[in-house]
Amino acid sequence: MKILVPVKRVVDYNVKVRVKPDQSGVDIANVKMSMNPFCEIAVEEAVRLKEKGLASEIVAVSAGVAQCQETLRNAMAIGADRGILIESDAELQPLAVAKLLKAVVEREQPRLVILGKQAIDDDANQTGQMLAALLGWGQATFASKVELTADTVTVTREVDGGLETVALKLPAIVTTDLRLNEPRYATLPNIMKAKKKPLDTVKPADLGVDVTPRLTTLKVEEPPKRQGGVKVPDVATLIEKLKNEAKVI
Ligand code: AMP
Repeated sequence: MKILVPVKRVVDYNVKVRVKPDQSGVDIANVKMSMNPFCEIAVEEAVRLKEKGLASEIVAVSAGVAQCQETLRNAMAIGADRGILIESDAELQPLAVAKLLKAVVEREQPRLVILGKQAIDDDANQTGQMLAALLGWGQATFASKVELTADTVTVTREVDGGLETVALKLPAIVTTDLRLNEPRYATLPNIMKAKKKPLDTVKPADLGVDVTPRLTTLKVEEPPKRQGGVKVPDVATLIEKLKNEAKVI
């Protein structure tokens, strides 16, 4: 069984991003980029399924600038067998990515696609759902446990106040939540091996997809600066301030 894992290159989660002075977006010049953490969890899950003998091949795919090759190499160092770069310098919004992935699914014919539940840069949480709709496949989002057989996947999902378990017929789409697994570190020998794994490059036009953005970002703003704290002399003043200044009680 072939598993496709879309991986996105995003600003590293440790970086504190700065909004550009013209408020058109965040400044990503000279900022450390890494694989989206939810995508790492997706790659790890696919590798575990392969290690259990349930999957035969893992294909990682990334859409974006040429440097997404690093993200794909990283996925291959964790255990993906090969990579596909859909190279584009254009801004790729979730609908465009979902259409590109649909075209790759049609070429590659995987039985399972495991995506991150969201990318930590745009927090869209849309691509997996849109891909499922475009393909007409079942989807199980926010997976915290995945069990695979030859024809079905059973997924435990984190929902408000508990867990829900759903069964889907393959082919299907799964998106990963934080507690699904803890991704392994790529070891040096595996990083070296990953450099030799196959990596193909295609362009959106080769896949017949128009990636023109459908949304315009009007404005990006910093959250309001935190006000300095004050010391209050007694409980009565605290209650008074909570009531009349903070208006929280
Ligand atoms: P989003 O819908 O943007 O929050 O992203 C959810 C998931 O879709 C990510 O965790 C990836 O698995 C996948 N994805 C989004 N954008 C890309 C991209 N440019 N290339 C590959 N996969 C992507």
